Amino acid sequence: MYFDPLYWVVIGVGMALSLWAQFRVKSTFAKYSQLATGSGLTGAEVAKNILRASGIHDVTIEPVQGSLTDHYDPRGKVLRLSEPVFGGRSMAAAGIAAHEVGHAIQHATGNAWLKFRSAWVPVANLGGGISMLVIIAALMMGGAATAMGGKLAILGVALFATTTIFTLVTLPVEFDASRRALATLQQGGLMSGEELGGAKKVLDAAAMTYIAAAATSLLTLLYWASHLGLFGGRRD
Ligand SMILES: [Zn+2]
Repeated sequence: MYFDPLYWVVIGVGMALSLWAQFRVKSTFAKYSQLATGSGLTGAEVAKNILRASGIHDVTIEPVQGSLTDHYDPRGKVLRLSEPVFGGRSMAAAGIAAHEVGHAIQHATGNAWLKFRSAWVPVANLGGGISMLVIIAALMMGGAATAMGGKLAILGVALFATTTIFTLVTLPVEFDASRRALATLQQGGLMSGEELGGAKKVLDAAAMTYIAAAATSLLTLLYWASHLGLFGGRRD
């Protein structure tokens, strides 16, 4: 167990941010999944329409269990929509379906952020997996106050940074998918102005969960860099 009170403040702030963002996305989704769209199309039909209009014919759409489990799988080229989105005829369902199609379009058009993010996954998994061991070893060696501790501190923080980078590059990928979603819903005439506003609220709330994750990761990274004495000034 680790006893620095500041560590628990950082962890606590991160958890509070994430819980708040998750609560917001759930409540916003609940609200806008009650509001029907004029088109009467299900999320799956909206997705199919946008895919076809974008000239993408090799992506399959299937339902997936759970709530807010929607995702695009680039390996299998499968768009998985949670049941309330797949069969839902609401502003929330259309917005989320269009967002996931946004990822399929990013994949088909070779979006640079998405490419980098996909390539970075194994790096972040490996770096994140061993970072805490190296950070603990650095702490035991006295951090930057000793030569060996200093080297381990830099290595540990660099390894942790691979996961922070992952959460940061997720942001442009997600923002771009939502921007595309709203633009295609509007251009395709699938939603009216008021309905688009509802879809945007749901997508903005979802974006907050990614922002919370990135902020938490960045905060934790700064904590370790500071605590291990990498910013200088700490000589104990
Ligand atoms: Zn997304």
